[in-house]
Amino acid sequence: MRLPFISSPFLHFSNCKGEIKLTSFSIIPDTSLDVKDPTLSGLLREEENRQRTKLPLIPSENYVSRAVREATGSVLTNKYSEGYIGKRYYEGQQWIDQVEQLAVDRAKAVFGVEHANVQPYSGSPANLAIYAAFLKPGDTVMGMALPMGGHLTHGWHVSVTGGWFRSVQYGVSKESGRIDLDEVRELAKKERPKLIFCGGTAVPREIDFSAFADIAREVDAILVADIAHIAGLIAGGVHQSPVGHAPIVSTTTHKTLRGPRGAMLMSTKEYAQSLDKAVFPGLQGGPHNHTTAAIAVCLHEAAQPEFKLYAQQVVQNAKALAEELLDRGYNLISGGTDNHLILIDLTSKDILGKRAAKALDQAGIVTNYNTIPYDPRKPFNPSGLRIGTPAVTSRGMGKEEMRLLAQYIDEAIQAAKRESEMELTRIAQAVANLAEQFPAPGL
Ligand SMILES: *Cc1c(COP(=O)(O)O)cnc(C)c1O
Repeated sequence: MRLPFISSPFLHFSNCKGEIKLTSFSIIPDTSLDVKDPTLSGLLREEENRQRTKLPLIPSENYVSRAVREATGSVLTNKYSEGYIGKRYYEGQQWIDQVEQLAVDRAKAVFGVEHANVQPYSGSPANLAIYAAFLKPGDTVMGMALPMGGHLTHGWHVSVTGGWFRSVQYGVSKESGRIDLDEVRELAKKERPKLIFCGGTAVPREIDFSAFADIAREVDAILVADIAHIAGLIAGGVHQSPVGHAPIVSTTTHKTLRGPRGAMLMSTKEYAQSLDKAVFPGLQGGPHNHTTAAIAVCLHEAAQPEFKLYAQQVVQNAKALAEELLDRGYNLISGGTDNHLILIDLTSKDILGKRAAKALDQAGIVTNYNTIPYDPRKPFNPSGLRIGTPAVTSRGMGKEEMRLLAQYIDEAIQAAKRESEMELTRIAQAVANLAEQFPAPGL
């Protein structure tokens, strides 16, 4: 038998007794991505170019450093290591254990926590692990409703956290756009949740962890602070820390913290074992060691003095951008921002969120449309636009650039209403020029 159609130099056949034997296991030639898969590599190049030339104002996005990306693409992706440091179900953990220990030690130092688990695959599975650790199906959980700024995994009905558990949801006051803590307390007393989530994905104001802790204490619930969006601001000292108030802290590592896509669960000693068991073997198998390594790198970066400056600038930029938008007659939920995020109610501008977001993308400014509290419209075509400053701050932009961005945003929205493609193209050119002056890190 012959296999004439295989011409790879990496295949060697020895035809003894009529049998075909492979004498090399490199069945797939080990070439670079460019050579092996030009289609995929072309797509990556296009995406890199998009990230370089457009300006992301999506508050959950950022640019990781070259070092973080190197760790993410490292050989650690080859290794299985189910279990925890010193207690693995596979051999060969001499270096992996040290990598995970570094990540854990750095998390404990940066956030001042007693325990850190760096294995959750992402923010959603991290949150699910908290349910797995402390709730049985049907038990009551309380969180912020998604359209009010909460996350899907805080008990919203389309998430399993809202389907498998009895979920009660709080919101923000219609007048102030801020969390009404009296309402939260009343609801908690009435519904007696076992678990209370605070934090969210579209919350422009500082979370009062201490007030949430009081409420949780009154109803004997466990308080979870989900700091996915603001972890970098907490690490940089520009947002109060939940540590000392919430015994459990959940976070992603890829938003303001500027690490790889991943997550961490941090806690007091009391809850450490339950959380660890829920992550593995409760929900997950082998940890993504390459991600663990990159988390260690991003925490090392977060411990440097420069990171404080970055975090301060993120907030200063958001405040400056908010001021500029207010000056141009935009209606901001809660009237402004304390953090990295701005939620715009576009109703008064007579344009829908999706239409505005699409026009802005055409103009080189990438945002996401979002529901606003009490939005009469559906989430797929809501009244709001969510923007944020972490990524442009990582590019080195400051107050002056925020003024320009506000101007471009306003011009693009006006252009969208006039359906002026020419004007959007002109703005895109101006945005590309601005982007060029502030090269993205890591690219
Ligand atoms: C982003 C986010 C998550 C989920 O993170 P994924 O990594 O996208 O699963 C959870 N909670 C909050 C508050 C978030 O903002």
